[in-house]
Amino acid sequence: MRPALLDPLFAPVTTLAGIGPKLAKLLARLLARDDDEARVIDLLFHTPNALIDRRLKPGIAHLPEGAIVTVEGRVDRHQKAPPRSNAPTRVYLHDDTDELMLTFFHAKSDWLDRALPVGEDVVVSGRAEWFNGRPSMVHPDYIVPAAESHTLPEVEPVYPMTGGLSAKVLRRSIENAEARIPDFPDWIDAEIVRRQGFPTLKDALLTLHNPRDETDLDPQSPARRRLAYDEFLAGQLSLALVRSRMRRAKGRPVHPTGALSGKVALPFSLTAGQNEAIAAILADMGKETRMLRMLQGDVGSGKTVVGLMAMLAVVEDGGQAALMAPTEILARQHFDGIAALAESAGVTVRLLTGKTKAKDRRLIEAEIADGSANIVIGTHALFQDNVNYHDLRLVIVDEQHRFGVHQRLKLTAKGAAPHLLVMTATPIPRTLVLAAFGDMDVSNLTEKPAGRKPIQTVTIPLERIGDVVGRLREALTQGKKSYWICPLVEESEAVELMSAEERFETLAKALGPEHVGLIHGRMSSADKDAAMEDFKAGRTRLLVATTVVEVGVDVPDATIIVIEHAERFGLAQLHQLRGRVGRGDEASSCILLYKGPLSETGRARLSVLRESNDGFRIAEEDLKLRGEGELLGTRQSGIPGFRFASLEAHGDILALARKDAAYVVNKDAELMGERGQALRTLLYLFRRDEAIRYLNAG
Ligand code: ADP
Ligand code: MG
Repeated sequence: MRPALLDPLFAPVTTLAGIGPKLAKLLARLLARDDDEARVIDLLFHTPNALIDRRLKPGIAHLPEGAIVTVEGRVDRHQKAPPRSNAPTRVYLHDDTDELMLTFFHAKSDWLDRALPVGEDVVVSGRAEWFNGRPSMVHPDYIVPAAESHTLPEVEPVYPMTGGLSAKVLRRSIENAEARIPDFPDWIDAEIVRRQGFPTLKDALLTLHNPRDETDLDPQSPARRRLAYDEFLAGQLSLALVRSRMRRAKGRPVHPTGALSGKVALPFSLTAGQNEAIAAILADMGKETRMLRMLQGDVGSGKTVVGLMAMLAVVEDGGQAALMAPTEILARQHFDGIAALAESAGVTVRLLTGKTKAKDRRLIEAEIADGSANIVIGTHALFQDNVNYHDLRLVIVDEQHRFGVHQRLKLTAKGAAPHLLVMTATPIPRTLVLAAFGDMDVSNLTEKPAGRKPIQTVTIPLERIGDVVGRLREALTQGKKSYWICPLVEESEAVELMSAEERFETLAKALGPEHVGLIHGRMSSADKDAAMEDFKAGRTRLLVATTVVEVGVDVPDATIIVIEHAERFGLAQLHQLRGRVGRGDEASSCILLYKGPLSETGRARLSVLRESNDGFRIAEEDLKLRGEGELLGTRQSGIPGFRFASLEAHGDILALARKDAAYVVNKDAELMGERGQALRTLLYLFRRDEAIRYLNAG
């Protein structure tokens, strides 16, 4: 299906000269997504973040300390290190102004003799250093004979690197990849190209890797803007295609009777925000077009009950509703809460996850198929091929950002155009909603249920961990419940696990093993459930956890949360974690244990959290401080980070790309025309081709 034009770009990097399996592995670590191998396109999309300018040639006597310089001179002598000593070899050369000392550690002397023959004119380039008052250079980056000085790059891009990879090798690999760039068909509207002054994509990529000066690195340079536009356009187009498919199938209006929702005995009255959200959802579902709505609400804002009311409305009208959560624990927790309420109104609620036993599964699947299960709650298992719904009218997805567009399509393919409600607890700034989800309708729950006490947040350096343990001991004797969140270890889940187990042991020793529980991602779900149950019931009162408790876990009487190595977490993630407490009517506290010294940004980030309890504000601040790529936390955030585009720098072209995508889908929803075909190439290029699979699909 992929246009043949792109084949050379999607070939593995090993098809390029000079890249063997060892280098390919390094490149995969640097560039590839998930477990994929690195492809030529990944090299071409790898974006330099700085440049080295070698055009500075002030003469040896005037070398500025620390600057990258290029020197032309005549080699005078080599001063070899005595054999088997660690002393460096020095090579001296001079120009009209002074003498330059080159220093080489552990250099092969025959190589030095060849590269720097005495009496010859050479050009060297590298960092100037004044050593004992004399100009010097340690291990020049380049040594070339003066006659070949034109081969020395004047300006070199600098790329993000990974350990073990040399900058030269990476640059050479990218250079080789550049030869593979084809002439792409035009997919941008000619008028936009003209007005924006965009270069062709080929030229933009060539400029990306061959910057002439700092202005070429500027996000506002024509090349960078062109790349950002293409990236946005691919994203917006794939969303628009998905949306048009979702909307095109007409919705079936839902006519609730109120018979069931009236019977549910809620232990509280709904907030105004909850009532508004429910009204908006019922109005959406009453229409002939499908609902596509996002319910955003800070942690603890009470989204679940809104979802419940929406589901009851569907059941009242004789339909089925499904609620999908990202994890087993969350699915079970939703099930526990919702089943208790809904079943009192005579509604049948079932739980289906990957862990459901085969025997139960068959029963539940039968109930789903014959319609006797009114509400089904679960994980991805809800949308496996063998699950067939009798009449699925509403799909609710909790914690949307963990699911990609592809999954979203799959799950709504189950019913006859079911309505879709996505609930997210990570407040997503408006700009990002647009970039990631397009023009979904949005309801916000901005107020917290009444009676919530604010959470007091403090930051404490790790050295004072002893004080914190003391505080927990005191809290334990007062019967309070606490969480201890173990540090996030990006590189290794194994290390993360080890540190959680170690922390568990030291805390168990300090506070009494009978009080302390442990929960982490590698435990079986039965063990996880047991650990959660023990904590809920108060059999343990300190729960040591990895970030598995990150989303949604509800233990209302937990009042303290300690987050170890808080500086390693994203702001939104910290806010999420903090939301595990402050759910009941007791005052709660959040202790951010950090390892100093903090960078300026690091300090600013933690202070945002200390000062604000408002998830929307925190998300906006996070966007400012870190950029949108990391906003949603790093791991498994479903939203692919942008390679070229930045919401901050390129907001104007995002708006343009959205409009253009909408225009295209309106005109040529199947992408069959000439421009449509070109746009298919664009979608493949940016790996947004999942949307293409749904074209012409009925
Ligand atoms: P989230 O939006 O994070 O999913 P939940 O739906 O889990 O929040 O609700 C958090 C807690 O608040 C739950 O214990 C829920 O029963 C309670 N709750 C929800 N709505 C209200 C309300 N209007 N008044 C009081 N408590 C509420
Ligand atoms: Mg929730």
